[in-house]
Amino acid sequence: MENDSFTRLILDLKSRKKEERWKIYDRWKASCACSQCPSYNECARETDELLYCILGMSNSCIREDRHCTCPSCSLYREFGLSGKDFCMKGSEAAIRFERTVEKSS
Ligand code: SF4
Ligand code: SF4
Repeated sequence: MENDSFTRLILDLKSRKKEERWKIYDRWKASCACSQCPSYNECARETDELLYCILGMSNSCIREDRHCTCPSCSLYREFGLSGKDFCMKGSEAAIRFERTVEKSS
C-alpha cells in the first residue's frame, strides 16, 4: 500500500467513528477554497457543497468547467492531493482508484 500523506489521511479517517469524521469534515469545509473558484455556483452555495476532494463530486450543481483553483487551496498540499476538478470528477480517492484501473487494463 502507498504511504503518502493522502493514504495516511484516509487511514486516520477510517480509524474514527463516523460522528467524529463529520466534525472533521465541517472543520475542513471552513478552509475549503471552492467558494472562490469560477466553477463554483449559486446552486452549490445554496446546498452548502464543499470539500469535493474528500466527499466526492457535486451532486447536481457543478456541470460547467470554468477552471479549478484547488491547487492553490491550503488543504491541497496538507492532504497530499494529486488530482483536481473534484466537483466534476469525484474525490481524490475515486480519481486514484480510476488511475489504478486504467494502469491495470
Ligand atoms: S482542495 Fe479543492 S475541494 Fe479540496 S478543500 Fe481545497 S478547494 Fe475544496
Ligand atoms: S473542486 Fe476545483 S473546480 Fe470544483 S469548485 Fe472546487 S476548486 Fe473549483
